[in-house]
Amino acid sequence: MTTLPDLDRRTADLIDLDERFSTHNYHPLPVVIAEADGAWVTDVEGRPHLDLLAGYSALNFGHRHPELVRAATEQLGRVTLTSRAFHHDQLGLFCRELAELTGTEMVLPMNTGAEAVESALKVARKWAYRVKGVPAERAEIVVAADNFHGRTTTLVSFSTDDAARADYGPYTPGFVTVPYGDAEALAGAITERTAAVLVEPIQGEAGVVVPPDGYLTEARRLCDEAGALLIADEIQSGLARTGTVFALDHEHVTADLYTLGKALGGGIVPVSAVVGRADVLGVLRPGEHGSTFGGNPLACAVGRAVVRLLSTGEFQQRATSLGAHLHTRLSGLLGHGVAAVRGRGLWAGVDLEPGGPTGRQASEALLRRGVLCKETHGHTLRIAPPLVVEEADLDRGIDALAQVVGAAPR
Ligand SMILES: *Cc1c(COP(=O)(O)O)cnc(C)c1O
Repeated sequence: MTTLPDLDRRTADLIDLDERFSTHNYHPLPVVIAEADGAWVTDVEGRPHLDLLAGYSALNFGHRHPELVRAATEQLGRVTLTSRAFHHDQLGLFCRELAELTGTEMVLPMNTGAEAVESALKVARKWAYRVKGVPAERAEIVVAADNFHGRTTTLVSFSTDDAARADYGPYTPGFVTVPYGDAEALAGAITERTAAVLVEPIQGEAGVVVPPDGYLTEARRLCDEAGALLIADEIQSGLARTGTVFALDHEHVTADLYTLGKALGGGIVPVSAVVGRADVLGVLRPGEHGSTFGGNPLACAVGRAVVRLLSTGEFQQRATSLGAHLHTRLSGLLGHGVAAVRGRGLWAGVDLEPGGPTGRQASEALLRRGVLCKETHGHTLRIAPPLVVEEADLDRGIDALAQVVGAAPR
């Protein structure tokens, strides 16, 4: 039960309703949000909370960014859905603008992150058979341990997280798992049957794990050598979170395909995409893949506004400067309840010292101080504030964290 004894009546009633009628596949913190603006949310009791999770990076531009709300509202007044049976006036513009922003050639629009990854895997397999010449049914895709790519049956087939995978078999074959960040293991796993290497440039769900310097460069080189595709899952790491459009940009590495999602929908609608090489995405012909909602006018209008926000570089700049500040301050907590800090840009995984609060206990204690954040695994907190957060607010959040993990006088 999530219900804490000191919950207000209205909060408790609404949580109770959730628990009775919605499946228990999440364990939310006991706060019920009613409104939000920028980096702040307000609960049903009218209490403000600073959002340090930002919808797992789906809210990079904050809650209800005025330009995104305007784009959505304008499109709501025009046309919202056509299906791909017909053309509409937003799709081509969205795809061109996203391709220009990302330095790629072609865009396959989908809705959720999991669908984007699924789509990239389908494209990679088809490319392996049609272009690379891998014998039928023999294509392999190399993935990393501790990955998170979504929740479909195929994606959990190669998850190494038992909670995500157990009891969902029989599993999709054709995946080879290697330890993350280990270039030698990757080299040993790639064969002439390898269609692609699928990798998160930074593993978010695993605890914001940054691979060793040079790993992604080496992954690129190994793929080139073997004639395999490099697929970067940038659903959480991309779109300014680390200070660049792609986290891969830090190593000046280019992927053949990228998956995008989360922030691409501006926190308003689910929008995802595979972006990349035209000769690879070009293997898809009419009828071979699709989605009723993928590339719908509302999604494209919001996606275009997201691309506009990213094209100024302002959010990348904020992630870089606020991120430097965040990491400096978090480093100061090492040995004061914090065992390790990882990350890049405005994104951090904070391992709490054993013996102190667990990630869940720390999140609950932060909630009581008006700060929202969430554990990933037992002793790690993931910090990913909206990129619009004010530095003074960020400092308040870090001060609260310091108190909760025991570094500051209580
Ligand atoms: C969130 C996430 C996904 C899945 O996205 P959904 O929209 O939840 O399906 C895939 N890959 C990564 C790296 C993610 O962070």
